[in-house]
Amino acid sequence: MSSTRLLEVSGVSVSFDGFRAINNLSFTMPSHGLRAIIGPNGAGKTTFMDIVTGKTKPDEGRITWGEKNISLRGMSEARIAREGIGRKFQKPTVFEDQTVHQNLLMALRNKRGPLAVLFYRPNRKDLDRVNELAATIGLTDELARKSGELSHGQKQWLEIGMLLAQEPRLLLVDEPAAGMTLAERERTTALLVEAAKTRAVVVVEHDMDFVRRLNCRVTVLHEGSVLAEGSLDHVTSNQQVIDVYLGR
Ligand code: ADP
Repeated sequence: MSSTRLLEVSGVSVSFDGFRAINNLSFTMPSHGLRAIIGPNGAGKTTFMDIVTGKTKPDEGRITWGEKNISLRGMSEARIAREGIGRKFQKPTVFEDQTVHQNLLMALRNKRGPLAVLFYRPNRKDLDRVNELAATIGLTDELARKSGELSHGQKQWLEIGMLLAQEPRLLLVDEPAAGMTLAERERTTALLVEAAKTRAVVVVEHDMDFVRRLNCRVTVLHEGSVLAEGSLDHVTSNQQVIDVYLGR
């Protein structure tokens, strides 16, 4: 797989009842690194994540993942997830009555496929991996705690850990810092920066302060197309971007 293009969205359009939510969108992502996608409400950010993960299929255009065309109708969400695209929704969806350890182990088990649920017995390697993941997400001291007792930030990190257990090559993350304390936001930034050293991480974000912390290339969406791309300073000095944000 090329190191320069892991994901290539080319000329993609999606309409809902004649309204173009995504309009001739092109976007590429290399095999590792961090990218923020910003844009006002209705810009197409959620639909963008939906087309990459296969939840919504494009009406036009193509999405290439390595050598594969993942925009084909036969490419289900589950298949695309198995191909290595992980998605983190805004709300954490951890199993609250299970411990942190159990949640991480479950994520490792799920990676083995549906039948693993019946026959799975964790081996030494999996138990080591749970400890490794817990260290990555800063929850080593919480391994025995029920996930329902964790803070909002800790739950978000646990879910990121569960996604990392699946070893995605691309992680799509929706507003990971929403509702977090300052300290939690700092920890989340460090976690995403670390995760992006070995895989591609795309963060969809509203909060400009958090985008600044990420210190990465930014793609601005507007009316389903890319309006600007570059550093945060570069895009926020673009007059079209300023007009769109000010609603002009
Ligand atoms: P964002 O996440 O940037 O706020 P969305 O991707 O949710 O934007 O939406 C882009 C546009 O497409 C919006 O105008 C929204 O109302 C419209 N849209 C999104 N999903 C649907 C749908 N399932 N049916 C009809 N319109 C939709």
